Amino acid sequence: MRTPVIAGNWKMYKTVDQALDFMNALRERGEVSGVEQVVCASFVALPALAQATSGTGVGIGAQTMHWEEEGAYTGEVSPTMLQDIDVPYVIIGHSERRTYFAETDETVNKKTKSALDHDLTPIVCIGETLEEKEADRTQETVRDQVAKALDGRSSAEASRVILAYEPVWAIGTGKSATADDADEVIRFIRKTVADQLDHDVARDIRILYGGSVKPSNIDSFLERPDIDGALVGGASLDPNSFGQLVDAAA
Ligand code: PEP
Repeated sequence: MRTPVIAGNWKMYKTVDQALDFMNALRERGEVSGVEQVVCASFVALPALAQATSGTGVGIGAQTMHWEEEGAYTGEVSPTMLQDIDVPYVIIGHSERRTYFAETDETVNKKTKSALDHDLTPIVCIGETLEEKEADRTQETVRDQVAKALDGRSSAEASRVILAYEPVWAIGTGKSATADDADEVIRFIRKTVADQLDHDVARDIRILYGGSVKPSNIDSFLERPDIDGALVGGASLDPNSFGQLVDAAA
């Protein structure tokens, strides 16, 4: 059985104090079981959050990382640095990183490998642009992105990856994919994983939907057996809204 995941992506929001306030408010809602909760914050908030969440069942994640352990890479953060502060998750290949920070399928592959090598759980984002959708190239795009992200990984490694299908046109726009469309693409992604690796990995790998998910529409996605949760931006910033998403998945 695949445990559902609700992962928040805070992007470039929240100071350390604001991050800690969020965690206190979330803690007051009480513990929730049966769902993996993850909050991906800015690098500066990670050490404080990792301490504040210790023993709460909430996992902390970074929003990117470099693939090397150390080196002359000004401004970058390495997987060993994340391990060092007990941050077990990392988002890789978010569309904003691909669009604004030159993330490519090749760097996504290196980062995914590096995250797995360092016992981190990579949340690997894939998804088509509006132009690709309108040109009827959604399947081709996601097949290519999945193939490149997982290229070279063993079945055991790939089953530790969390994939997030995030149509680029749905991120931060308030215009989510329909549950039917998200379900169709996610089932296609699962088939792609089966073709590339094997059926066991396709059965075990968690695949999330992301793109304008909120408490009012989360149920429509979660009721699809192939959708294992959500990667959420805007609606993850408020502890009550995040808590409602978690409750829906529990
Ligand atoms: C995201 O940042 O990954 C995302 C899906 O954002 P939003 O939920 O705001 O669309």
